[in-house]
Amino acid sequence: MSSLDPWVPLLFEAGSTGLEEREGEVWAYFPSPKDLELPGWWEELPDEDWLSVWRRDLKPVQAGVFTVYPWLQERKGPFEIILEPGMAFGTGHHETTRLALEAIGRTVRPGMRVLDLGTGSGILAIAASLLGAQAEGLDLDPSVIPQAERNARLNQVAPRFRLGSLEAAQPPYDLLVANLYAELHIEFSSMYRAILVPGGIALLTGILSERAGPLEHALEEAGFRIEQRLQEGAWLFLECR
Ligand code: SAM
Repeated sequence: MSSLDPWVPLLFEAGSTGLEEREGEVWAYFPSPKDLELPGWWEELPDEDWLSVWRRDLKPVQAGVFTVYPWLQERKGPFEIILEPGMAFGTGHHETTRLALEAIGRTVRPGMRVLDLGTGSGILAIAASLLGAQAEGLDLDPSVIPQAERNARLNQVAPRFRLGSLEAAQPPYDLLVANLYAELHIEFSSMYRAILVPGGIALLTGILSERAGPLEHALEEAGFRIEQRLQEGAWLFLECR
C-alpha cells in the first residue's frame, strides 16, 4: 500500500485535481486553497509547471486488451487509447482505472448500453465505445466534461458526456462502471440496481480494501451477486451482477 492511498478519496472528495507522492510527502493539487482539516501547508504553483512535469513522466499503460498512451497524436491499433488527462483523473496509471479498464475489456460487447459514472478524463467510456458499446459518461465536475469530449475526439469515438450524477442517468443500462469510493458505492447501491437491466453488470472500483465489508453487504442487500473480487495494492475491484 502506498502512503498516498488513505488520502486519495478524502482529497479528491475535497476537490483535488491531482495527487502525487514526493519523498515522504503527499502533494495534492487544488485550483485554489481551501479549508482542510489536514496537516500541511499551501504553495502557489503555476499550472503549466507541474502539468508539464507530470506529462513528461507519464508512460504508456497496459490494461488488459487496452494500451493507454498519454500525449500520442494518432491511434495505431483498435485497442489503443490516446489520453490527454489535463486536470481530470483517469490516465490509466492508477490501479483503480487499470482494474476497470481490464474488466471493460473482458465484459463489454458491441451494442451494450454502458454508463461510466464519475467519468473524469472519459477513459472508461472511451474504452467501452472502442469495443462498440453505446457509452455515456457522467461527472459532477464541470471542468472534466470538455476534456473527456476532447479525448473522445482524439480516439474517434463518440460517447455522450453529461454533467451530473446518477440523477442525470438515462436508464436502462446493460453495464455500469464506476470508479468512485466505497462510501459512495454504498449510498448508490440500490440506485445501481435500479438503473441496470435484469442480469446487468456493475463494475465497481475506487474501493480501499479495508472498506470493502460494508460495501459488499450493501450490494448484496440491493440484490447484486458479487462474481469477482480483484485487488491491486490497497485497491479493490468488484464485478457484480
Ligand atoms: N473514471 C475515471 C477513472 O476511472 O480513472 C475517473 C475516476 S475519478 C477517481 C472519480 C471521478 O468521479 C471524478 O472525476 C469526480 O469528479 C467524479 N465524481 C465524484 N463524485 C461523483 C458523483 N457523486 N457523481 C458523479 N461523478 C462523481
